[in-house]
Amino acid sequence: MTAFDIKTLPNNLNGQVALVTGASRGIGRAIAIKLAELGANVVVNYNGSAAAAAEVVAAIKALGNGAQAVAIQADVSSVADADRLVAETVKAFGRLDVLVNNAGVFRGGLTDQLPLDDYHKLVGANIHGVYYTTRAAIPAIADGGAIINISSVVSKTAIPGFPNAAYSATKGFVDALTRGVAAELSPRKIRVNTVSPGPTSSDMINSLDQQTVDQLAQSTFFKRLGTPEDIAEAVAFLAVPRSGAWFTGQNLVSAGGATFSL
Ligand code: NDP
Repeated sequence: MTAFDIKTLPNNLNGQVALVTGASRGIGRAIAIKLAELGANVVVNYNGSAAAAAEVVAAIKALGNGAQAVAIQADVSSVADADRLVAETVKAFGRLDVLVNNAGVFRGGLTDQLPLDDYHKLVGANIHGVYYTTRAAIPAIADGGAIINISSVVSKTAIPGFPNAAYSATKGFVDALTRGVAAELSPRKIRVNTVSPGPTSSDMINSLDQQTVDQLAQSTFFKRLGTPEDIAEAVAFLAVPRSGAWFTGQNLVSAGGATFSL
């Protein structure tokens, strides 16, 4: 048997096609741009923010490295939209190599007080969205490709004084799905991993009250919120065939050591 040589694997994403869900804003936006910097052609999925998605496409084209981008509207909590999103990705660029399930929503509140509508929104985007898009992508994604699911540090920890049990539980689903799908797709050498951000500066966090935002920032070792670009680096590490080669079914925590002693 010939010894495996990691140096034969590409150290970039040249010629690859990446689909990033929820790429119009925040973490998804930074991921889309980072993967394009590494050479991928990128599908910028959005739900409601058409103008912001168009700006991400323009930013990618302006990189000047030949990376192409298109924006595709789809509500990933709809199975029909998720199916169409993957089909339109393949139609636009001829293949799919990297799927980043990033789209998600946050709704906080005590379990007996969280409006059921908020609970259903959490389940729709964070559970159904990841499942439907993954399900649609599995037959389309190229052997040797990668799926990266965006979870959260709160899938494994609770924060006294910051009630979010339902949100945390949706991310627990993401962690478990990742391990199961990693095992399923291993014969095709498709790597399936999770990136778990800590508190990260985006519309999601910045919509909380300022005191909570400050406390979340103080919960990291480095006393600041993460940036979307911090998280995008972790996703890129897993997406690139060489750096990500020996990772599957894993959870890469990108949180500045956040401990949540609020
Ligand atoms: P933002 O609220 O800033 O952005 C959310 C993105 O998801 C938007 O592009 C939005 O699209 C998209 N989106 C939401 N629902 C849907 C849907 N049903 N279909 C398609 N797209 C959708 O969030 P962040 O960037 O902060 O979060 C990104 C991911 O990171 C989420 O999964 C979140 O749970 C996770 N995360 C975030 C942390 C943080 O501190 N910010 C910490 C840990 C995890 P549009 O605007 O077009 O509707």
